Amino acid sequence: MEIPGHLLPPGESVRHPARLRVEGDGTLQVDSFAYCYRGHLDEVVVGEALGSVPRTLTDPHGWCFVPRDGALMARLLEAHHGRGRLARWEQRGSLLALALVVVVLLGFKLLALPSVSGALVRLLPPALMSEVGERGYQALLKSHQLQPSRLHKTQQAQLQARFAALSATLALPRPAPRLTFHHMNESIAFILPDGRLVMSDAMVKRVDNEAEMEALWLHELGHHHYRHGMTRLVSAGLWGVIATLVVGDVSGAADSLASLSWVLMDLGYSRDLERAADGYAIRQLVARHGSSEALATLLRRLGKEQGARWLSTHPSMAERIAAAGAAP
Ligand SMILES: [Zn+2]
Repeated sequence: MEIPGHLLPPGESVRHPARLRVEGDGTLQVDSFAYCYRGHLDEVVVGEALGSVPRTLTDPHGWCFVPRDGALMARLLEAHHGRGRLARWEQRGSLLALALVVVVLLGFKLLALPSVSGALVRLLPPALMSEVGERGYQALLKSHQLQPSRLHKTQQAQLQARFAALSATLALPRPAPRLTFHHMNESIAFILPDGRLVMSDAMVKRVDNEAEMEALWLHELGHHHYRHGMTRLVSAGLWGVIATLVVGDVSGAADSLASLSWVLMDLGYSRDLERAADGYAIRQLVARHGSSEALATLLRRLGKEQGARWLSTHPSMAERIAAAGAAP
């Protein structure tokens, strides 16, 4: 299969027209006038798809291939992934063994995982949260998903000062939250396990009044308060993390978690987690202003925007607006 696209040299944004060719066994070749790479799909880093941004491949030398057709790339990776996994399972044993593992994992996930990962997260030291957050952030920067902010420095500083003043009044887990801006294609905001709240420029422009900005920040700080991001990371990589924590290798545990950076950006929190974060914001808004109407108006307005990723599709929007609007 051959996919047209372009190559980005390490740390540069010059685009070189390129073609990616992948054989059935996963060997791949990227050709451009500037650079060629021959290797295997297992040796390259596959970026996560983010909204309209397609999945990219970064080779061991740091050259990043960006496909013109994201859907074609997704199909290719899916086909290879499925084949590779099945081949490994066939080597290890019968389908019966696979079925047993699935049953055990499903049982574990349904019965014990949420409470196990929640309890584990409460035991994690702030130093580990810092390391995981920082590594996850660096992974996102490297994957070209976060571009430098185009907001005026004065505006950034003003917002950061207001955010610092707000979070200083709250009893939040360490590390202390802070605000970072990036240019991205979508209206998006998310908080990393180290308390770094990343807002896209588009989101800043969308939320143009102080009350709604406070409501958005409080919702994200709610996720931080309950350590939702870390809980999801631990749920996703539980085995590796437990193993590395048991042998006392904190940086190894951070590696396991940071390699799951897709979870960091995944805003598809469950309905319960979104409800908990909304609840936190509502309580804080009511305590400060006697009303949580700002959250309701923010949700209402963002709801009209197509593809506003801050709004998970899981919780019913009407339910969230009603809850925020109904609070005294
Ligand atoms: Zn949320």
